[in-house]
Amino acid sequence: MNINDTDRTPGGAILMDGNKVRDELIVDIAKRVAADGSPKICLATVLVGDDKPSQVYVRSKQRKAAEAGLESRHIGLDGASSQTQVQDAVQELVDDPAVHGILVQLPLPDGLDPEPVLDLIPPIKDVDGLTERSMGRLVRNKPGHAPCTPTGIMRLLERYDIATSGSRAVVIGRSTLVGLPQVLLLGRKGVDATVTLAHSRTADLVEVCAGADIIVAAAGTAGLIGAEHVKPGAAVFDVGISRTEDGIVGDVRFDEVQAVAGAITPMPGGTGPMTIACLMENTYNAARMLA
Ligand code: NAP
Repeated sequence: MNINDTDRTPGGAILMDGNKVRDELIVDIAKRVAADGSPKICLATVLVGDDKPSQVYVRSKQRKAAEAGLESRHIGLDGASSQTQVQDAVQELVDDPAVHGILVQLPLPDGLDPEPVLDLIPPIKDVDGLTERSMGRLVRNKPGHAPCTPTGIMRLLERYDIATSGSRAVVIGRSTLVGLPQVLLLGRKGVDATVTLAHSRTADLVEVCAGADIIVAAAGTAGLIGAEHVKPGAAVFDVGISRTEDGIVGDVRFDEVQAVAGAITPMPGGTGPMTIACLMENTYNAARMLA
């Protein structure tokens, strides 16, 4: 891509604009759907309870699905639903050939176990890439869906021409949602980064990060990463979200890191929008796999 038209931070780092790249990807998916003859492709969302942030996430996913030329179906269940009621609702979507992707909005209300719910979703319809079987496929490099946040970071690396082969990457956080799949994606053959996984027990995080060409900060600890962690020219991806009195804050101290980094994501407006775009892409891919 031509990065001459790319925005830069005051310190000169490339601003990896998740909103812009999300929009490009959504337009591209819509074109692919149209080129396929506009088949009906359906993303089903399941929300249990009335958690406000979850409602906002689900609505924005539905909006983006429509922009991508996909249909969405929403199943809203009462917060007092039993484990069986939730599982029955998901099973119906699993059995429905008109549904291509299923997203169960987590966390579920207290008292409900997400594992047996997720276990019902077959890998092809698991567009969140969160089930055991999807993770197994990712590890074994078999067709399936990788979780959307780490996939979004891979898309940003491609979009901004950031070299990965032979690079040193540090991923901070080892969740199955973000950190672990990110390690697998960065270390894949063809991507070829040498990846270090850091977590809360990592000794001397500054030293571990300071040699990295790529840093993915997914700890959920506000302001964890400062200029002292970042090698000049490194690409820094901020995944962590902390809600503070000053609004949403990432794991990266943007103001100081942008003066050192070669490329950086804003928070908000970086990895979050890419997560949604990759959900749409996984849904499109699911429909192709099911066709
Ligand atoms: P999680 O399951 O709580 O995992 C956090 C990980 O960070 C753990 O492995 C933890 O280490 C590690 N960690 C915590 N504090 C640390 C520190 N001070 N130094 C080094 N490592 C530390 O969280 P998650 O589900 O992966 O989410 C991580 C963050 O990303 C959250 O803020 C979440 O809201 C956000 N998120 C953002 C997006 C997006 O689209 N931008 C998507 C998903 C999640 P231990 O394993 O040792 O405890």
